[in-house]
Amino acid sequence: MTNLRIPGPTPCPDEVLKAMGRQMINHRGPEFARSLDDVTNKLKQLFQTRNDVFMLTGSGTGGLEAAVVNVLSPGDKVLSVSIGVFGERFAAIAKQFGADVIPLNFEWGKAAKVDEIRQALKDNPQVKAVLVTHNETSTGVTNDLSAISSVVKEYGKLLVVDAISSLGSIELPVDEWQCDVTVTGSQKGWMVPPGLIMVAVSEAAWEANAEAKMPRFYWDFAKAKSYLEKGQTPWTPAISVIFALEVALDMLLKEGISSIVARHAHIADKARSGIKALGLELFAEDGYASNTVTSVVAPERLNVKEMLRILREEHDIVLGGGQQSMSGKIFRIGHLGWVTDKDIDDVLHAFKVVLPQAGFGG
Ligand SMILES: *Cc1c(COP(=O)(O)O)cnc(C)c1O
Repeated sequence: MTNLRIPGPTPCPDEVLKAMGRQMINHRGPEFARSLDDVTNKLKQLFQTRNDVFMLTGSGTGGLEAAVVNVLSPGDKVLSVSIGVFGERFAAIAKQFGADVIPLNFEWGKAAKVDEIRQALKDNPQVKAVLVTHNETSTGVTNDLSAISSVVKEYGKLLVVDAISSLGSIELPVDEWQCDVTVTGSQKGWMVPPGLIMVAVSEAAWEANAEAKMPRFYWDFAKAKSYLEKGQTPWTPAISVIFALEVALDMLLKEGISSIVARHAHIADKARSGIKALGLELFAEDGYASNTVTSVVAPERLNVKEMLRILREEHDIVLGGGQQSMSGKIFRIGHLGWVTDKDIDDVLHAFKVVLPQAGFGG
């Protein structure tokens, strides 16, 4: 089996894949209603929330769009805290729908500075919501969401969180950290194929939703809520992915949140120390390196494209390159969801052979 070490889609356990092969059922019938109820309750446990949780059919980016259009009106001021590609995407969506976006961008590879967020909120009292990426997959950096939340709530703003590559893998107690809209996607830490968005919506977000004027139809949270009450979704959902998620959630709950978080921390630690032992440098700021994806600075002599090719063709290992301006400058090792020590040991072992072949060391 290919050692697929990209930060999503991630490998899926056999039981999960088998669930995908089940025959279709009526998505307006009692059997689906039972599944929907079961999956929703299990998601609430892993989100650590008492708020509403919905499944929407789409990829993560659709979830970011849903978050924006459900709580904002055109002309609303929003503070966009960005530390990479996905932070920029979040801001671009808000802008596209007419929000007045105040960008607060930090150098890629670094985490957001809480003091600068506080200053921006002080300087811009009209801000309605703060958009933030919990775990920036493009740079392998995890923001201190708990501290960011404290500041956002000190100023009484809505906190809208891209938790696509964090929730289900690293610590994110949604209610305790007062997240108002929290978005994640099935193909990241959830051990499930792409196709589902999972989103939690707080009481304050519902109040904003009642006033929000941005155009929305497919992504309308109010429709999702009214249908969920009768055991349905407004539109035909990705039924097979829900079957898969049902199995994956049982596995995750059996392992338990603290064990899942500890496993990801342990494996990330192994990846980081292995990388350093090879004489390579981590891209992420010390203390903020992600436990779901490790970003590595490409040394000058290393031909990243060639390294990725040899790993893929000769070792059956697939890593991520750098996105956008990071292309050729960094590469990334995904370690979220269904990942074991061996998966990372195999990558580190292959590096010993492949790095010299691609120009670095030896
Ligand atoms: C993967 C990812 C996205 C985009 O999700 P898609 O499913 O590709 O649309 C957005 N934000 C973060 C942090 C991600 O990791």
